[in-house]
Amino acid sequence: MKHSFSVGWIPTQMPLADAWGRRVRYLRLSLAAACSMRCLYCRPTTSDYCDQEGMLTAIEIETLARHMVRRHGLQKIRLTGGEPRSRCDLLEIISRLARIVRLNDLAVTTNGLTLAASAYDYAAAGLSRVNISLDTLDRERFARMTGVDGLNRVVKGIDTALAVGLSPVKLNTVVIRGENEEELPALVDFAAARGIAIRFIELMPMGPLASQWDQRYVSADEIRWRLADVVADWQARPQGTQSAKQYAATLTDGRQVSIGFITPMSCHFCSACDRLRLTSDGAIYPCLMGAPSGSIMSALRPTFDADGLDMLLKQALAGKAAQHPAQGAVSMTQIGG
Ligand code: SAM
Repeated sequence: MKHSFSVGWIPTQMPLADAWGRRVRYLRLSLAAACSMRCLYCRPTTSDYCDQEGMLTAIEIETLARHMVRRHGLQKIRLTGGEPRSRCDLLEIISRLARIVRLNDLAVTTNGLTLAASAYDYAAAGLSRVNISLDTLDRERFARMTGVDGLNRVVKGIDTALAVGLSPVKLNTVVIRGENEEELPALVDFAAARGIAIRFIELMPMGPLASQWDQRYVSADEIRWRLADVVADWQARPQGTQSAKQYAATLTDGRQVSIGFITPMSCHFCSACDRLRLTSDGAIYPCLMGAPSGSIMSALRPTFDADGLDMLLKQALAGKAAQHPAQGAVSMTQIGG
């Protein structure tokens, strides 16, 4: 018998949770492993090449997201990579997802290289906000750390994102000993001058620097210590399920700036983890540092099988560890940060 539903009918929600009772509310979707940068701690295995064969299509992404919002109460989606902009249909994906009712938060994490040209279109298509990676303000160091002489383009991208009203704009800075640890006050000044938030990320033992992690890692405590000359006061803000410990910082010159610390190594936030990660080929990663646990592709092709998808997601979540492993299983470029 066919069911008929009246307009406005909302199906019963079936929360998705792991074996430890942590509920999934947040999907991080890596749209492509390719990236136009080759950051020394991440380094994609592929170039900025948009080969979409075998990847989730824009329609499949929308179908999946609609299902997860409607049936599982998903609230947030972050598009990441690799570099999301490696996908030529990124704008279409944004506009499809932005139309989903009750998806409260749609964000992109980007290297910012092409943002100056596309931020307006993303905002018009319904993107809420953007995180941009910026590890240095020194042009030569930027080129060395990322493999691209692109500092000016990224700064222009940041300023354009602000000008078109993407809000909030946040900077992500991975701190690496021997590279940028002396630059932290300058980066805070850059953020304060624009009224944007900056988050310092502890290097994780995954990707090309995994074997040198002991020598390259800088803890959040040390980062705070390195900012002691420029920050006069730290007011902690509630963290909730956010990955960053946030502070409303007052600088010694009186300016206010939001500074966050993402501390997966010194003080992990696994107990509050509400994330599920999928890669562009449909692989399911219950944990950022864990191995993949199955694939959703068989539930998407040849036609969408909602119950089959739920079974695959539940199976993957059932095996999610209480805490992330000591070393990442894959590079961040595959799974997305
Ligand atoms: N291409 C986009 C970008 O540049 O933001 C999105 C993907 S990138 C993998 C996402 C974030 O992961 C970036 O902020 C990057 O700095 C961070 N990341 C990559 N490898 C990391 C590692 N080993 N430890 C900590 N953060 C890392």
